[in-house]
Amino acid sequence: MIDFEFHSPTSLEEVFQLLDAHGEDARVMAGGTALVIQMKQRLVQPEHVISLQRVAGLDAIATHSNGSSGVRVGALCTQQQLATNPVVQELIPIVAETYGHVATPRIRHMASVGGGLVHGDPSQDPPPTLIALGATVTLVSSQGERTAALEDFLVDYYETDVRPGEVLTEVNIPALPAGAGAAYLKFLPRTADDYATVAAAVVITPGPGNVCQDARIALGAVGTTAIHATGAEDALRGQPLTDEVIRAAAATVKDVVDPLEDYRGSADYKREMAEVFTRRAIQQALANAS
Ligand SMILES: Cc1cc2nc3c(=O)[nH]c(=O)nc-3n(C[C@H](O)[C@H](O)[C@H](O)COP(=O)(O)OP(=O)(O)OC[C@H]3O[C@@H](n4cnc5c(N)ncnc54)[C@H](O)[C@@H]3O)c2cc1C
Repeated sequence: MIDFEFHSPTSLEEVFQLLDAHGEDARVMAGGTALVIQMKQRLVQPEHVISLQRVAGLDAIATHSNGSSGVRVGALCTQQQLATNPVVQELIPIVAETYGHVATPRIRHMASVGGGLVHGDPSQDPPPTLIALGATVTLVSSQGERTAALEDFLVDYYETDVRPGEVLTEVNIPALPAGAGAAYLKFLPRTADDYATVAAAVVITPGPGNVCQDARIALGAVGTTAIHATGAEDALRGQPLTDEVIRAAAATVKDVVDPLEDYRGSADYKREMAEVFTRRAIQQALANAS
């Protein structure tokens, strides 16, 4: 491990002062489950580590006060909190289910919602579900605040659009549209606590006559970021939700994924599995629609 100075501020203002003072020599730390490993491997070597753990107000889960549905999740909420929170389980059960798939309880109790998203690992579980729901992230710095769609925030392999001096403070997750069903499928051929070999998230709204009103589909572990599969969505929207239409829509994802070969499988195998799990996730989401 490299030498570094550890800071434990109690307010966001202090965090911003430290970030502005130390620039690229500083990194914020939430759960530390990713950052500490990267520091041990000397992939990152910050001289200043700024813990967010004592900053008040970053670990709340709340519904919107403006009447719109959905939840606002503080960046410091643990992934276990999201998996077990009664409001999330009631309003958007797919989010609780997805966070319940992350690694093990030990990891989930440490890893934060914000830290996971900023980390930008393309094999993580939450991004496909959050993209399928249309989630946004809020980023704050001493210069002000901005909001970004999660899919735009995930830029490349372990690269996210966090700008100098910024802290991700909140994730906004819209509720499911009325009548919609959702599913997240994680293909785990090795062990239950592994990262996904392939993952697919679907939010689908069937209409009268079983015609698809709307669909949102996103995939994990098959590219440099989670992938929003808009071609598959277009192949479903306005179409009768027959087996043939679903199969044809799922087949389109083979053209947009770009999996890496690793010990979980070859690129060709993962491409095949992306189609299979997209199809199954569409079918499961339809079965879950009310
Ligand atoms: C053994 C193991 C298995 C795992 N398996 C899975 C899995 O199956 N599925 C899955 O989805 N995840 C899995 N994870 C978790 C995941 O990969 C990350 O480790 C975790 O989500 C990071 O959260 P953290 O709060 O610990 O982030 P940290 O390690 O604290 O930080 C990660 C990065 O984000 C930055 N950061 C943190 N918080 C903020 C913030 N609020 N604003 C700006 N920047 C910030 C840090 O500077 C750092 O660059 C696993 C982790 C481990 C160690």
